Amino acid sequence: MNKSDKILIIGAGLCGSLLALRLAQRGFKVELYESRPDLRTTDISAGRSINLALSDRGFKALRLCGVEEKAREICLPMYGRLMHDTGGNTFASNYSGRENEYINSISRGDLNGLLLTEAEKHKNVNIHFNKKCKNVDLDKNTAHFKDYKTKEEFSVKSDVIIGTDGAGSSLRKSYYLERKFLFSYAQNYLNHGYKELEIPADKNGKHQISNQHLHIWPRGDFMLIALPNLDGSFTVTLFLSYTEGEFNFENLTSEEKITQFFEQEFPDALEIIPNIKEEFMNNPTGALRTVKCSPWSYQNKTVLLGDAAHAIVPFYGQGMNASFEDVTVFDEILDQGLSDWKSVFKTYQKARKQDTDAIADLAIDNFYEMRDHVANPIFKEKRKIEMDLEKTFPTQYFSKYSLVTFNEDIGYNAAMKIGRAQDKALLNLIAGDEVHTHLNMTKEELKVILEKVKKETNTILEEDKIAGL
Ligand code: FAD
Repeated sequence: MNKSDKILIIGAGLCGSLLALRLAQRGFKVELYESRPDLRTTDISAGRSINLALSDRGFKALRLCGVEEKAREICLPMYGRLMHDTGGNTFASNYSGRENEYINSISRGDLNGLLLTEAEKHKNVNIHFNKKCKNVDLDKNTAHFKDYKTKEEFSVKSDVIIGTDGAGSSLRKSYYLERKFLFSYAQNYLNHGYKELEIPADKNGKHQISNQHLHIWPRGDFMLIALPNLDGSFTVTLFLSYTEGEFNFENLTSEEKITQFFEQEFPDALEIIPNIKEEFMNNPTGALRTVKCSPWSYQNKTVLLGDAAHAIVPFYGQGMNASFEDVTVFDEILDQGLSDWKSVFKTYQKARKQDTDAIADLAIDNFYEMRDHVANPIFKEKRKIEMDLEKTFPTQYFSKYSLVTFNEDIGYNAAMKIGRAQDKALLNLIAGDEVHTHLNMTKEELKVILEKVKKETNTILEEDKIAGL
């Protein structure tokens, strides 16, 4: 393994472009191949989901690559969730009791464009657009491509091939199809899909609803969410079952039924989505899946990063953040001075796999939390206590959400274990009438709750350890 090694990266999405930038900064020669046209010069949809929530794990990786400030310039902070009921009433729930902890809405296309531009500034990076990888010959370190424009097929040999080609990875498919080694692979679809709609800016180019929140219309079996964009619009996403329930993607096929659904379930949103019928009919319905696989690498030749290795459902807002964190961890392993790529890949997976498995599971948990529990009175009471604890004891209490989203130096797996035990502790205490809240809790009252929660959490963690969890 040395600096003259040629690295071929398949997929110049969020993970691939950041990885190319980092490897170029480290002095490697990088060839980056992307199936789509250059999104900076072509008017194409940036791919699935127009905007995303960027948080601290993502920022840590961007900081490593020297692009954090540029990314922050195109972010809109979202301090909490704003829930909308069917009567048009709203209530807010902050993400954290600490003022400096919030998530950020960012355009996928703008962020991807920024990373491509930064990567391209390095003369040891070449980016090739419109080149789709068809498969990879693993033993020959050779990737086979088709040029979308010329329809020509060609092959590229490289010292190392890295697959950052997303949830439908061609490299991962070659692992599976070539049968060179024992490759474990699981793909689980949710019965829910998603469709994107738009709340346009008002006539003055301003946001029509709060641009400091992530809006949620939780309805039990389905939900609508909206994230603000810099141009005054919101990207709205409907998460709905394909086949189940009174309304589903399969039966929402007429303009009347779509209007009936929105009038009944999201009347306040309907008022500000003027093109609902056209958008609903014309915009694609996307599927949501979790992908877990192992091993991520083959010998000293190939490795998977980002969604290609671990695609997750979007409900924790962590898929991109986790993919960026992959780059941070991969970079840390490169710092260890290991002698060959095989050791780098193995050490990387060992350091990373349990964390990406954990965030996959947490993302599924949050699916139920967002569409259902956020409107539940016990859940609201729990969140109120957590906010008060974080505000009053900012260095002593971190909710599960804070551990996952704002504590980039704690792995997802540890965050999940502590966070779940803490949730259980708090819910047990509320259900057992052992903690009570009122509007203006004193520091002393909160201190008592904090001690009870800590004690109960430790007991649960001890029990989990004995049970081997
Ligand atoms: P991708 O972004 O998918 O990039 C893969 C790239 O590879 C693409 O450019 C693609 O064109 C290219 N490619 C694919 N196949 C080939 C091929 N054969 N040859 C060459 N190139 C190829 N994450 C968050 O952190 N926060 C959020 O709020 C959030 N919201 C989301 C909402 C939705 C609806 C969805 C679906 C996802 C969301 N995510 C979110 C997850 C996030 O989008 C992904 O985790 C992230 O895009 C992964 O980055 P990646 O580079 O690994 O894959």
